[in-house]
Amino acid sequence: MSYRKKFVVEPGGKIHLDKIDPSFTGKHESHEKALPIIQEQVARMDKLQYLLYADGDQSLLVVLQALDAAGKDGVIRHLFSGMNPQGTSVFGFKQPSKDEAAHDFLWRAHLHTPGKGEVVIFNRSHYEDVLVVRVHKLAEKSVWSKRYDLINDFEKMLASNGTRILKFFLHISPDEQLARFKQRLDDPARNWKITDADYSERELWPKYIEAYEEALERTSTKIAPWYVIPANHKWFRDLAISEIIADTLDEMGLKLPPTHVNMDEIRNKYHDAEQKQKKQTKQVGKIDKVSQVKPESGYLLDCASDWTPEES
Ligand code: ATP
Ligand code: MG
Repeated sequence: MSYRKKFVVEPGGKIHLDKIDPSFTGKHESHEKALPIIQEQVARMDKLQYLLYADGDQSLLVVLQALDAAGKDGVIRHLFSGMNPQGTSVFGFKQPSKDEAAHDFLWRAHLHTPGKGEVVIFNRSHYEDVLVVRVHKLAEKSVWSKRYDLINDFEKMLASNGTRILKFFLHISPDEQLARFKQRLDDPARNWKITDADYSERELWPKYIEAYEEALERTSTKIAPWYVIPANHKWFRDLAISEIIADTLDEMGLKLPPTHVNMDEIRNKYHDAEQKQKKQTKQVGKIDKVSQVKPESGYLLDCASDWTPEES
């Protein structure tokens, strides 16, 4: 079964996060064994992002949501670093600035949605307005409870404009979170990640789970589905997310646009330029080093062997 089917929150369905095992790894035994598959999925993602950009007609919005230390940053580093930066960007949602807070809650999200051909990753998102805002009572219930429908309408509008939306909830256990907090404490290179809020937010775990469950149930739709990703094992999280993204891009019907020039004419022009170059090089007594371009080679073929995504 594909991970899209396995981890999707069925639209209109119920979700009980405590019934989903955050340590699930399926048939995969270890990071070592799964690594070639992760690399293969990441290579697919990179090639398809190139097509998305070239095609220029659709876009992809990836929403990452999770409790602290669940690995949003890791997903971005491991899975998106091979994509062409021209056409890919990440936007992190922090506490709203004065300007952001002066607008409706979807304003800042809308400002950062992908244009045609682009991939945008939301590190946290407009969902914070029904999560942290609800848990910390930053707005009245009468305000945040209307937001589920507003979010669905917003996402419907983006989808109708050619944006595919994939939303991932990285599901970790409280034990795993504590183990990661310990790593942050013990490893000087990770000390900078520690915040007081990590510990105060952890106290509110049940309230967050309640808020997440309602958000997942009310906003998982056919055009913008939520996936609950078992994330205690970082490598399995990466495997599942990369497969879901690559499979989604794959079915978007992306294609290289047709060329706007007359190829025969251009080949003749190339030939003339090559001959001139050869003459000039001979004149200055240099060896002809003009390389031969194989007519059948294209960017995708040339670069396929260079794609060796990093994993740590
Ligand atoms: P990490 O998981 O590595 O700790 P992070 O995503 O928590 O990273 P931080 O800079 O620690 O990054 O936190 C951003 C904070 O901004 C979060 O606590 C989040 O809940 C908060 N935030 C985001 N959107 C809103 C919002 N609309 N209203 C209030 N707080 C928000
Ligand atoms: Mg944090």
